[in-house]
Amino acid sequence: METAITEDQALLDELNAMDPEALIAWAYTRHGERAGIITSFQDTGCVMIDMASRIAPGMRVMTIDTQRLHPETYALIEEVERRYGIEVERFQPEPSRLKKMVDQHGLYLFFDTKAKQEFCCQVRKVEPNIRALRTVDVWITGLRRDHSETRGATPKAQFVQEEWGTIVKLAPLADWDEAQVRAYVAENRVPMNALYDQGYTSIGCVICSTPTKPWEDKRAGRWRWFNAIDNDKECGIHGQGAGI
Ligand code: SF4
Repeated sequence: METAITEDQALLDELNAMDPEALIAWAYTRHGERAGIITSFQDTGCVMIDMASRIAPGMRVMTIDTQRLHPETYALIEEVERRYGIEVERFQPEPSRLKKMVDQHGLYLFFDTKAKQEFCCQVRKVEPNIRALRTVDVWITGLRRDHSETRGATPKAQFVQEEWGTIVKLAPLADWDEAQVRAYVAENRVPMNALYDQGYTSIGCVICSTPTKPWEDKRAGRWRWFNAIDNDKECGIHGQGAGI
């Protein structure tokens, strides 16, 4: 489906000057069901869902269910659905693609080489994410500049070119830091992933995301076994590499 977005620099400037709640409200008011939060249910995503529950109560919430998420993440998704009375849309890997990959390379191919890890992320994350993106004109993400060096220049709003057209990609909390997120969570009693209490600072699939030390980058626990040879901590959904 072609999107209705045209690249307008004035609009982009206006969006980049907005605060998080104004951005979420703009997305819902202007684009309705063609806007959605796509989240892996980390802290920033949960904050945005909480904001949307008040200012954009019909906002779609989507997640990429790689079928290898932590049990704590699956439990959180259900808790969020109950708390806010919403149904989270789950986008999963295409079954025949997944079966072929596992038959050919095994379930733990991500240990073998960086290329196989990226292939796994392509099948389990990137392809379902593309299916989700095809249903929106406005993609709302939980990216923050303090997540990693590679995310240090993340704009609050940008146009991204997909093969079927242009979409608006928003990162409403791009300029928030950890303290701001924690303060919002405490004040609004936002449900959070239990793994944060176990030292995780970035949460994706089991095995591929691990706890971090205080001096490490927030995403250092991703694919930790590659840290010595490759510091690319992106899976392909947000650029670089092939994977969340
Ligand atoms: S994070 Fe690991 S298990 Fe999840 S899709 Fe990527 S390589 Fe596969």
